[in-house]
Amino acid sequence: MNPIDACNNETPPSDNAGYEIARIRKTQASCSLCEDYAARHAAKPVAVMSCEGACLRGEISRQAANILCHELAREQTVRVCLGGAFTKNTGQRSLVRNAGRVIAIEGCPIMCATRSMQGVIDDLKPEVIFTDKSCSFDQSLFGVDEMPEPDIKACAREVAKKVVATL
Ligand code: SF4
Repeated sequence: MNPIDACNNETPPSDNAGYEIARIRKTQASCSLCEDYAARHAAKPVAVMSCEGACLRGEISRQAANILCHELAREQTVRVCLGGAFTKNTGQRSLVRNAGRVIAIEGCPIMCATRSMQGVIDDLKPEVIFTDKSCSFDQSLFGVDEMPEPDIKACAREVAKKVVATL
C-alpha cells in the first residue's frame, strides 16, 4: 500500500508536492470571547492544535487535545482553535506563532492541522503526533460511529497521556 494513502501511518508522509493556493475571504468579524481566551493563555509555553475532523481518527485527536489542555496539562498547554487560527490573523494564530513549542495531534497523513497552519505561519514546524500510532484500535475503522464512545474516550486519553509524558 502506498504509505501516503495509508491511514495507519506506517510511514509518516514526507511528500514534497508543491502548494495549493487557497483564497480566504477576509472578515471584519471577530469573537471577543475567543480573543479573551487567547489573551488569557498567551503566556503558556505549549500550543496544541488538532485535526478537528469528522472521522474516528479526527475525533480521537480532538478529544485527546481537549483532555491534554483542559485536564492533564492545564498549566503548560493551550488548546488552539484550528479554524480560527487558520482563517484569520487573530489571537488564536498568535498562540501558535508565539508558543515555544507547538504540538499537532493529527488523525491521518493529510496532517490538516499542521499543513493549514504552515500556510499562514512561515517556517512553522510543529511536533506531530499521529493518533493511530499512539493508541491501539481496529485500524480498519473509519467512521466516528464505528467505535463506542467510551472506547474513543479511552483512546484519546491514551494519546493525551503519551503527549503529557513529553512535556
Ligand atoms: S483529515 Fe484525516 S483524520 Fe482528519 S477527519 Fe479527515 S480523514 Fe479523518
